[in-house]
Amino acid sequence: MTIDPETTVYVDEEITCLDCGTLFVFSAGEQEFYEQRGFKDKPKRCKDCRAKRKIDRENGVEPKRTRYEFVCPGCGKPASVPFQPRSGKPVYCRECFKKQQKEAQ
Ligand SMILES: [Zn+2]
Ligand SMILES: [Zn+2]
Repeated sequence: MTIDPETTVYVDEEITCLDCGTLFVFSAGEQEFYEQRGFKDKPKRCKDCRAKRKIDRENGVEPKRTRYEFVCPGCGKPASVPFQPRSGKPVYCRECFKKQQKEAQ
């Protein structure tokens, strides 16, 4: 078999699963499939963990997101937000945020 230099040659790749740390194979066939689908990112998780996440999604379980912890300047209580607070802009806890919105009306 001759290999056309224009054709991408896929080689099995080993990736460490982000969730369980298992080394899994991202096979040449899967890489081709990903390429055809236009997926730019390699899988970060093994098949088991991907299947588990799929089930979680179907059950409405939210995947864990990074939350940013901060101390609310309104009440001084610790709170967290699912996004990175912009510097210079105060971020309030949910209660204080609601209170502020009410006061602004
Ligand atoms: Zn895994
Ligand atoms: Zn507050």
